[in-house]
Amino acid sequence: MRTLTVPSTTPATTAPVSPGRQALDTALFQLDQAADRLDLDDSLRAMLATPRRSLTVSVPVRREDGRMDVVQGFRVQHNITRGPAKGGIRFHPRTDVHEVTALAMGMTWKCALAGIPYGGAQGGVSVDPASLSTLELERVTRRYVNEVLPIVGPERDVPAPEVGADRRTMAWIVDTYSVNAGYPVPGVMTGGSTSGGAPERAEATARGVRFATLRAICGSPEGRTVAIQGFGKVGAPAARHLADAGALVVAVSDSTGAVVNRSGLDVDRLRAWSKETGGVRGYREADPLSHDDLLELDVDVLVPAALEGAITEQNAPRIRAGLIVEGASCPTTPGADRVLADAGITVVPDILANAGGVIVSYLEWLQEAQARSWSAREVDARLRGLVENAFDTVAAVSAECGITLRQAAHVIGVGRVAEAHRSRGL
Ligand code: NAD
Repeated sequence: MRTLTVPSTTPATTAPVSPGRQALDTALFQLDQAADRLDLDDSLRAMLATPRRSLTVSVPVRREDGRMDVVQGFRVQHNITRGPAKGGIRFHPRTDVHEVTALAMGMTWKCALAGIPYGGAQGGVSVDPASLSTLELERVTRRYVNEVLPIVGPERDVPAPEVGADRRTMAWIVDTYSVNAGYPVPGVMTGGSTSGGAPERAEATARGVRFATLRAICGSPEGRTVAIQGFGKVGAPAARHLADAGALVVAVSDSTGAVVNRSGLDVDRLRAWSKETGGVRGYREADPLSHDDLLELDVDVLVPAALEGAITEQNAPRIRAGLIVEGASCPTTPGADRVLADAGITVVPDILANAGGVIVSYLEWLQEAQARSWSAREVDARLRGLVENAFDTVAAVSAECGITLRQAAHVIGVGRVAEAHRSRGL
């Protein structure tokens, strides 16, 4: 197997590998495997392994006490051969250019797999939003947008809120972009009603997780037990939608802690508690649990919906769920994948399971382009159709080639992008 690397501007160092670098190594490994199966030549491999554009910016932040800090921001467009770039914006202290590149690459394959005409991008700011006042966060967000402005825009690269971003950050992004443009540009961002987009977009990723889970279960979800790591924009609505489908959500975690109730959690009450207290920790109608124990619970379905690298070669042997549905991006390392495959645990990969958000962004765009409006029910039916179709295609390739769902998903996604490169003569 040939090994893919991306040129690095970082000097050689003996420092431990950052989580971002690990995520990028994982992304390159997955690309490498798919490229081998597709028998791609070296030049095409190199093109697919390298982001088309990668912008690193310095974001000065004037703190309320008058101090000035400088944080780094990034916007990476991995590939725009199949359409304009699309991808999240994240605010997290460990965000670096490697992590952003890995997520942008995953987005490219995700859009290709879903059959929607977008390329892959990702942005981020290496800051902990909880460490900033609202005013400071607004300053960071607006300054970041001003810095990446030359490469984003409705026809070029459309961000959506991701880890650490919310409706407020979205509103600041739309406003800053619009002020610069000189007219309102609600379409510069997708991700919920604040941007002028469809209200159903806010929960679309979680809806996609639900459809992918039900397809993978191949039967009634009634009474199946579910544990969810991460209770944010993906995890919390996914808990609600899986409970609505009849599953029993027994455990949930977020950065404050984890809770378990074997009889099933009341998801709405837990959401209200989390909103009121800032996290799930201390929820009275459940027992406390450690973060690690949540991943290792004896449940039917485990949904990692937090950050990269949650399931590793170390904890994978202790995972007892029969099915893992990746709400998060890159939550499973390649070493863990091998352990899970050997144990017969099915993993519905991120680029399939969490595609609901970008699919509904595409459906929003279709409605605008056709000057028509679909009901929430119609949007949901189309989302379901696209997720189920992608799932069935992946499952068929997996069965035919004797490979995992993740490998099959990458063969399809990478293959479609490679084909687009060939047909455009790049
Ligand atoms: P978010 O910031 O809204 O939520 C993240 C959640 O994870 C929070 O509840 C946080 O407390 C929790 N968390 C962080 N560290 C944790 C830990 N060690 N253990 C348990 N919980 C922990 O972010 P989000 O938008 O929900 O994104 C979550 C994941 O889903 C990311 O990997 C993201 O790339 C992926 N994703 C999100 C979307 C979307 O539409 N938001 C779309 C596709 C993929």
